[in-house]
Amino acid sequence: MKKLQYWNERMETLSRDELAAMQLKGLQWTVKHAWANSEFYHRRLSEANIEPGDIRDLDNIRDLPFLTKDDFRDQYPLNMLCMPRSSIREMHMSSGSTGAAIVMAYTEADLAQWAECMARCQIMAGLQPGDAIQVTPTFGLFNGGFGFYHGARRAGLFTIPTSSGNTARQIKLMRDFKVRGIGSVVSYATRIIEMLDEKGLDLPDLEIGIFGAETFSDEMRKRVETRLGIKAFDIYGMTETGGVGTTGMDCEARCGIHVWEDQYITEIVDPETGAPLPDGAVGEVVFTSLTREAIPVIRYRTRDLTRVVSRERCACGRTSLRIDRIEGRCDDMLIVKGVNFFPKQVEQALMEIPGVLPEYQIILENDHGVTDIRINVEAEEGVTGYMVEKKLKERLGFSPKGDIFKPGTLPRGEGKARRVFHVDKE
Ligand SMILES: [Zn+2]
Repeated sequence: MKKLQYWNERMETLSRDELAAMQLKGLQWTVKHAWANSEFYHRRLSEANIEPGDIRDLDNIRDLPFLTKDDFRDQYPLNMLCMPRSSIREMHMSSGSTGAAIVMAYTEADLAQWAECMARCQIMAGLQPGDAIQVTPTFGLFNGGFGFYHGARRAGLFTIPTSSGNTARQIKLMRDFKVRGIGSVVSYATRIIEMLDEKGLDLPDLEIGIFGAETFSDEMRKRVETRLGIKAFDIYGMTETGGVGTTGMDCEARCGIHVWEDQYITEIVDPETGAPLPDGAVGEVVFTSLTREAIPVIRYRTRDLTRVVSRERCACGRTSLRIDRIEGRCDDMLIVKGVNFFPKQVEQALMEIPGVLPEYQIILENDHGVTDIRINVEAEEGVTGYMVEKKLKERLGFSPKGDIFKPGTLPRGEGKARRVFHVDKE
């Protein structure tokens, strides 16, 4: 059988003109649908003096009001719903570290849309119909497990829904069932590596890792790829846009994340003012869904920071615009001694030190209003705190205290890794 390069060649290689025409249609439909069927959207659009007929070209998107994470929280549980409740088939929810939960509901068509986006990602990563994929994110309210599952079904993959935990058994299953790809958070891949090292197990015959839900540095990617002998892909999507993979993934060419533009309009705005930014400038990425029924998003402010890398056809042949891998969330930006940085930058610096292991904590100590920073990191013998301090000084411009821990001694959680801790100094 011929190797599939695309899941949906037609949609993944549309010309820019065809994409623009589809986007306008989708935007007009979405605004009309939301305006007509949800009290929340009707009020929101009316307050901005928008009626569905006002959307005449794509630039009119800038007249529409933004949607925020707080809107989702305020409209809990289903006040944003634009379809009859009886048409809902599934829901997912994220709680985040702060505040009330964010709910996404799916009609049958929304589930099909999610499956379509995920199938495109899985084929783009190199998986082929018939290949086995091990799905290690949790099956539950978190969207990860089911997202991989719906997409794998659509793409004709053999799904092994292990969920998280019991790493020794996960490795055994990979080997027994000739698993070619895994869906995971990158910190779980590091857990698998630890288990291989600790038990002296042979490397499973994996080839592909699709990692989502956490930002990770290029250096972390390189380590996971080298140790597991895989190609790693960065998949993007969130509860609010409909789950993992809905807003794309990076391809083998590694020059940005392909957003599924027949499904979402992408804007980059100034995170302070909301003003649109030109291609190349880093800002907050904003998504508008074009086909989603139950809870469409109109100009959803993700708080994720990135930039448009290119709108040219990619080396992989796809024509959709590419955004950079996510640098971090606006809300996750750390400010210490007047320097702004993201946890991912600390990770990148740490992973450049030979002997440093992927388990680390960034401790922010509040010392009577002044923030101090300490890095706890696991490392092999021979790595010293001074080496960590020196590298971070070089990278960030200041020198946090570095504390070295023996391998396996920092606490580990399941699911998304927690890296940043705020504490008050005694
Ligand atoms: Zn590409």
